[in-house]
Amino acid sequence: MSVFKYEKDADGIVTVTMDMTGPVNAMNDEYNVAMNETVDKLEAEQGLTGVVFASAKNTFFAGGDLNMLVSIQPQQAEEFYEGIIETKERLRRLEKLPVPVVAAINGAALGGGFELCLSCNHRVAWNSKAVQVGLPEVGLGLLPGGGGVVRMVNLLGLETALPYLLEGKKVNAEKALAAGLIHETVDTLDELLPRAKTWILENKESETAAVQPWDQKGFKIPGGKAGTPKLAQTLMMAPVMLQQKTRGLLPAPEMILDAATEAARLDFDNAQIVEARNFTRLATSDVAKNMISTFFFGLNKVNGGASRPADIASSKVKKVGILGAGMMGQGIAYSSAMAGIEVVLKDISQEAADKGKAYTEKLLDKRVSRGRMSAEKKAEILSLIKATDADADLQGCDLIIEAVFENMELKHKITKSTEGYLAENGVWGSNTSTLPITQLADASSNAANFIGIHFFSPVDKMPLVEIICGEKTNDETLARAFDYVRQIKKTPIVVNDSLGFFTSRTFGTYIDEGIRLTQEGVHPIQVDNMGKAIGMPVGSLTVHDETSQQLSHKVVGTQKDMGLFVEPVDGDAMSEMVDWIYVENNRGGRHHGGGYYTYGEDGSKTIWQPLVDKYHKPDHGIEEQDMKDRLLFRSVIETLKCLQEGVLRSVADGNIGSIMGIGAPIWTGGYLQFINTYGAKRFVERARELQAKFGNRFEPPAIVVDKAEKGELFT
Ligand code: NAD
Repeated sequence: MSVFKYEKDADGIVTVTMDMTGPVNAMNDEYNVAMNETVDKLEAEQGLTGVVFASAKNTFFAGGDLNMLVSIQPQQAEEFYEGIIETKERLRRLEKLPVPVVAAINGAALGGGFELCLSCNHRVAWNSKAVQVGLPEVGLGLLPGGGGVVRMVNLLGLETALPYLLEGKKVNAEKALAAGLIHETVDTLDELLPRAKTWILENKESETAAVQPWDQKGFKIPGGKAGTPKLAQTLMMAPVMLQQKTRGLLPAPEMILDAATEAARLDFDNAQIVEARNFTRLATSDVAKNMISTFFFGLNKVNGGASRPADIASSKVKKVGILGAGMMGQGIAYSSAMAGIEVVLKDISQEAADKGKAYTEKLLDKRVSRGRMSAEKKAEILSLIKATDADADLQGCDLIIEAVFENMELKHKITKSTEGYLAENGVWGSNTSTLPITQLADASSNAANFIGIHFFSPVDKMPLVEIICGEKTNDETLARAFDYVRQIKKTPIVVNDSLGFFTSRTFGTYIDEGIRLTQEGVHPIQVDNMGKAIGMPVGSLTVHDETSQQLSHKVVGTQKDMGLFVEPVDGDAMSEMVDWIYVENNRGGRHHGGGYYTYGEDGSKTIWQPLVDKYHKPDHGIEEQDMKDRLLFRSVIETLKCLQEGVLRSVADGNIGSIMGIGAPIWTGGYLQFINTYGAKRFVERARELQAKFGNRFEPPAIVVDKAEKGELFT
C-alpha cells in the first residue's frame, strides 16, 4: 500500500492523504515513488472533479530530507540535479491537471511542504497555532529548489517575495492569508477537508480554478518583470547590499537573489532550471553541510537533551528566586515570567527591585503596543513577579539564581544567608560569568545542588544558556537546571567547570589574537576588518571595547589573587595591552571613557591615535590570509582543547555554544563543525604552519591530530 492514501468520493473528488514512514512527511525517495504513482493515477483518473492533498500527521509536510542533503557530495551534482528536475516535473504535472487541486493545511507546511502547497490551485488552512507556512531553507544554507523561488516570485512579485526567501520568514495562517500565501482559513480542524471539497464543487465549472495564475493567458507578475525601470534599479543595488550583509561568506542568499531575479525575467520553465542549478550548487557546498549539521541536527540534539542525564524524570520550576535585579537579574525575571513561572526578584532595596521589575513592564508594553500581546496577558505576566528586598519572600523557591555583583565574597555571603529558603531538593544557580563554580559552591551546605546557570546579555534576546557543573554538582541538579532552561524556551549547553567555562574562554582567544596582531604592527582598524572578513559580527578590538578592558583587568586580578591564573603559552599579550591602555592611560572601554576607539556622543567612532603610534608598523609583513586564519584558528583550537579536556561534553554543545553564545561565523556551523568540512588533516597541517610562524598557541591539540589520522569527523 502506498504511503499516499488515495480515495475517490461520490463527487469525483480524490483525497490524497500523505502518511509517510516516520514521524513527518518529507521529500525523500519514498515521497518520489508515492508522488509519481499518485500523479500517474490522477492523470489517468476518469470522472475526476478535483483533488485534495491532506496529511495524516500533525504537521502537513516537513520539507526536504536533510539526512540526504547533508551527505550529498560534489561528484553527485549531476545526479542530484536530475533528481531536482524530476521533483519539479511532478509538481508541474500536478498543477497542470485539468481539475482544481487543493492543499488542506492542517499543520506546519515548511520548505518542500509549502512548495507542494504552492503547486496547488487553492490553499486552505486551519486557523491554529499549529499551522506555520514558509520557506526557511536559507537558514540551512539552501534555497527552495522544488519551485519555491519561482512560484513565490510569480505569486507575490519579486520585491514582496524576497523577504520570505532571503529571511526564511515563517508565518501563521492568519498572516499567510493577509499576505496572499494562502486563500482561506477554517476555524476548526473538522471543517478543513469538507471546506476543501466544497471549494472544488463551488469552482468546478470555473475556467480558471484549475489553472495557476502564471499559466493563465495574459498573466503579469505583480510588480512587473525584472526589466521594469523601478525593479531594474532595485536589482542593481540588491547584490551590493546583500554582499555587505553576508560579506560574501554565505552563498545561499546570493543564489536565492539570482534565482528570484531570473524568475522575474525568464519564462516559468526556464526559471525553474536556474533554480535547480543554484540549488545543486548550494546543496553540494560545504557551507550548507555546516549549517544543516549544526542548525538542524546539532540544535535538535542539544535541545533534545543529549547532554542531560537521561534517567532522571523531567521537572518544572514553579517558583524561582532571583537575587540581584540588575542588568542580568531583570532579564532572567522577564524570561521566567514569560514562561509562566512565579518570580521573586530580590535586591538590596525595594527601589532597586522595583526598577528591575519595571524592565519587564517596559518589554511587555512594547509587545502590547505592537499588538503582539493583550493588556490582560501583560497584567497576568507582570503579576507573577514579586519585587522585594526581603529574603523571607524566597521561601519555597524550587530554584534560586543569584545575579549579584561579580564578587566571590559577596556571592559566598548571600549563598549562606539565603539557601535555607530553598524548597526541599531546590537548586541553587549562579549566573557568574568568570568565577569557578566549584569554589563558589564552597559556601554552600549542599554543593551537590549548586550549579552555574550562565545567561548572556541581553537575556531576553540571547537564546543560549551555559550550564556549568562544579566538581560536586549531581546529575539531578543538572537535569533540573536543564529542564528550567528549556522551560523558559532557551537552549542549554552543558559544560564542566573551567576558567572562563567554554564560551568566555574561547571568546577570549579571539580578543587575544586581535591584540597580538595589533602588537605585531597590523593597523588596529585592519585587525577589526579581518575579524569581520572571517564572518565575526564585530572585530576583536571593538568587542574588547564593549566587554571592557576594565573588566579584563579585574578578572585577571581576581584569578591571580585566587591562584588560578595560568600564564598563556606565548606570553601574556592581553595583560600587557590592558596594563598600558587601561591602567596607564585610563581607557577602560566604550562605557568607561573609550578604549581602542574614542566614541562620540553623536555615535561616531574613531581610532585612538596613540594606539596606532605605539604599535602600527606598515612593514609588519603579515599576510592577510595568515591574519584571518590566526583569528579563526585560535577559537577553533581552544574549542578543541575544551573537548579534549572534557570541559565540553559533546560536539553539538561546542557548535551550538560557539554560534549562539559567542557569534562564531555562521558559515562554519560552529568551531568543531568547521573542521569537518575544512578537513582535519588540512587543519592540522595549517595549524602547524601557523605554529612555526607565530607561536606554540597554534599547536594542534591531540584530539584533532587523532581525528586526522583516523579520517574521522567530529560528530
Ligand atoms: P549589575 O551590577 O547590573 O547588577 C547587580 C545587582 O545585584 C545590583 O542591582 C545590586 O544592587 C544587586 N545586589 C548586590 N548585592 C546584593 C544582595 N546582597 N542581594 C540582592 N541583590 C544584590 O550586574 P549584572 O551585569 O547584572 O551582573 C550580575 C551577575 O551576572 C555577575 O555575576 C556577572 O558576572 C554576571 N553576568 C553578567 C553578564 C553581563 O553581560 N553583564 C553576562 C553574564 C553573566
